[in-house]
Amino acid sequence: MKNCLFCKNRGFEVFYNLKSFPIYFGAIPKKDNYKIKKFPLQVSYCKKCNLVQQTKRVKESILNKVYSSKYYNCPSPKKSGMGKREVHKFWNFFRSIKQKKGKSLEIASFDGYLMGLMKNIGWNVYGCDPANESKNAQRKFGKKIKTVFYRAGVYKKKEFDLIIFRNLFEHIYDYQKFLNNVSYSLKEGGHIFIDVPNIKEIIKAGSFGVFFHQHISYFSKNTITSILSSYGFKVLKIFEGNPNLFIYAQKNSIKNKPVKKNKDNIFLKKNIKKSDYTKKKIIRIFKNQKNRRIVLFGMSALATSIVNFIPKKLKKKIILLSDNDMTKHDKLLCGFNMKISNPKELLSLKYDKLLICSYFFKKEIVSSLKNFIKDQKKIVFI
Ligand SMILES: [Zn+2]
Repeated sequence: MKNCLFCKNRGFEVFYNLKSFPIYFGAIPKKDNYKIKKFPLQVSYCKKCNLVQQTKRVKESILNKVYSSKYYNCPSPKKSGMGKREVHKFWNFFRSIKQKKGKSLEIASFDGYLMGLMKNIGWNVYGCDPANESKNAQRKFGKKIKTVFYRAGVYKKKEFDLIIFRNLFEHIYDYQKFLNNVSYSLKEGGHIFIDVPNIKEIIKAGSFGVFFHQHISYFSKNTITSILSSYGFKVLKIFEGNPNLFIYAQKNSIKNKPVKKNKDNIFLKKNIKKSDYTKKKIIRIFKNQKNRRIVLFGMSALATSIVNFIPKKLKKKIILLSDNDMTKHDKLLCGFNMKISNPKELLSLKYDKLLICSYFFKKEIVSSLKNFIKDQKKIVFI
């Protein structure tokens, strides 16, 4: 067990534990599959500040290698359309707050999708991201995108009016260092907009297969507010969305606020067994004798978790892996030696059940499959 990432306390309640989980999840090129190492994955909440976090963390340098590798590929909103719904929800939140337009920086700008939206309404946009996808964004934004890991020295002091980071803060090992860097690059009174996983919704959804090595922490309205105010940001507005929290905050000079007590532990304690229930539900689907031929749809962290935890005997029932994202086709699912196929394969295949491996995009997936599935009753959700 480590110290709490925020309050440095050492007392935890464990609520998710996998003996081994691959460092990477989802689709991977066949030639790279052998390189993928597995590590224990444990998620707990701090008994003092209730922050949900990994308590057997992989070394940061190992993860940094994953982020800059070619096969690391978050769903690109430009390519898959699946992440698009979340970007647009964030965009609505962003637009709901009246702001004077100026110079903005997006840390982890990925394919530049959000930068494009902001540019269209008059922001002077900059981006910073070492991911492979940045190279595509550079074609549109040129030198305004830097393909490096963000740190204070990358930009001048007090250069920006606004800094955005979506899907990033949950990857951070050292909050203080990161937020001090952000402060450095931000003008006095400047603002931040952030987007982080909402632990309450993640737990409600099923609590299994939603945790992976890259996400070091998972936040609630209470914990993210405490963290930001401790390191010099005043929270002005929060939207408690599903699955993400959106936060708007302002740089101020008050730091080192004491950790405020909150009641998150009531909800966390009540749901501590939730992931075990979900696991049992999955096992039941696989053990059912009527289900002899099973298709997994959606090559997510959940799909990776399923193939890495069900016993070999049951795993044999999986006859097809499929996903809408064309860039995943002919690759393998991490830790499982089977190729990912185009959904049109479903038309000529005999199967008993098609398991949707997503909690948050169920509707989108089902409607995308309507031309490939003759019998809707075969679809099962977790
Ligand atoms: Zn703590």
